Amino acid sequence: MATTRRPLIAGNWKMNLDHLQSIAFVQNLAWALKDKKFNEQEVEVAVFPPFTDLRSVQTLINADDLPLELGAQDLSVHDDGAHTGDVSGVFLEALDCTYVLVGHSERRAVHHEDDDVCVGKVQAALRNNLVPVLCVGETSEDLEKYGASKVPVDQLTAVLTSIDKKADIVVAYEPVWAIGSGQAATPEQAEEVCAALRDTIRSVHGDDAAERTRILYGGSVKSVNIAGFMKRDNIDGALVGGASLDVDEFVAIARFPHHLSVD
Ligand code: PEP
Repeated sequence: MATTRRPLIAGNWKMNLDHLQSIAFVQNLAWALKDKKFNEQEVEVAVFPPFTDLRSVQTLINADDLPLELGAQDLSVHDDGAHTGDVSGVFLEALDCTYVLVGHSERRAVHHEDDDVCVGKVQAALRNNLVPVLCVGETSEDLEKYGASKVPVDQLTAVLTSIDKKADIVVAYEPVWAIGSGQAATPEQAEEVCAALRDTIRSVHGDDAAERTRILYGGSVKSVNIAGFMKRDNIDGALVGGASLDVDEFVAIARFPHHLSVD
């Protein structure tokens, strides 16, 4: 883990917890972080609730000054207009969202979001002062056919070539075969792809962007395996799905600096 990039532990709740459950969950999370003397200077923690929870969670974070950043799970390529069911980046910015996921594999697969759509969403995020967390990753078929790095590098390149080199983005490397499967990549596998992603940023946007951009690993991250990932030079945090819905587990992941000796 490079010392200049502040690690980010991001919890993607997916379609879990309604707005009432989200309030109880965030209160418990805040208490648990406080109880464990979590240091927010050391690690940034963000939660990505469903759209319908955002207002409730924002209110809690702001009212109690909780050490949590807020993110949305998706946004529209458009800012306004006749787009039934879409959610605008304008609205997410008004709700104090810092981050928004773009190109999660579930959206790429189920909603057929290709690289063009992801480019449009990243641009929409940036023009509304949101930091896009661009998810990239290979399926098991891709892995067999092309190896691990090609697809994620191509997905990242499509976006990088369409945005300014000063743009603030986060990249999440999520091998599709590792998401929700309980079978995480090994730290070595993840580091190899994350290093290739950083090289891609360097070749498209230069050294400054490559050094400053955080690259997360995602896919069956748990408290028992987080330290192995965080020891690697090119992994700056984790995008956590299932384990982010368990307060104790998520807090243990966020406190990874305390168990960095555990692989
Ligand atoms: C995800 O959905 O982004 C994810 C990484 O899920 P999980 O941690 O459950 O594999």
